[in-house]
Amino acid sequence: MRIVLASGNKGKIKEFEKLMPNDDVVAFKEILGDIEIIEDKDSFKGNAIKKAQTIYEELLKKGINDIIVISDDSGISVPALNNEPGIYSARYAGLNASDKENNEKLIKNLKERNLEKTPAFYTACIAIIYQGYTYTVHGWMHGNVINEQKGEGGFGYDPMFIPKDFDKTLGELGYEAKKEFSHRTKALNLAKKVLDVII
Ligand code: IMP
Repeated sequence: MRIVLASGNKGKIKEFEKLMPNDDVVAFKEILGDIEIIEDKDSFKGNAIKKAQTIYEELLKKGINDIIVISDDSGISVPALNNEPGIYSARYAGLNASDKENNEKLIKNLKERNLEKTPAFYTACIAIIYQGYTYTVHGWMHGNVINEQKGEGGFGYDPMFIPKDFDKTLGELGYEAKKEFSHRTKALNLAKKVLDVII
């Protein structure tokens, strides 16, 4: 069955396509064009549900109903910064901020507190909508953030994040390593279990 991804984030779309090689995964934009979804909920779960519901309803309006919609709301939290950027990860440096601008803001905030390396964790909430029913699952990845960027791999905050038990950033380790233990992989493995039961 076709799975529509309720995400416009290119980094995430790439990861989902690699994580679900045997499924027919399509980004919503390819069917519906540009739709702006305001992420105004106070949790990853709230925003993930809002994204999936918005896309599900738009598909229904087009008469497309025998379809699975999957969304992902995710971000990085730094306990020493009161869990910032958290749900604001995509717009930490402002609406439509680039990954580079968001990373620079995080680096600046870490440096202001003389934090070279401090614990951090990624959260991913995946919402699934199928036949009008909504399901959610979460995955986490723990490690440390550093106050500089290393490596070109991954996306978003990956060049600043050193996973637990490693001494390199995800930017240096690259996607093959990341996909073994990432927050998105863990959430998606749970999502696949949900799909196995409901379809
Ligand atoms: P969302 O699309 O509103 O969920 O925003 C997610 C934001 O969190 C992204 O723009 C990234 O800044 C960050 N993020 C989420 N997952 C990852 C990841 O796997 N690597 C790096 N950054 C991530």
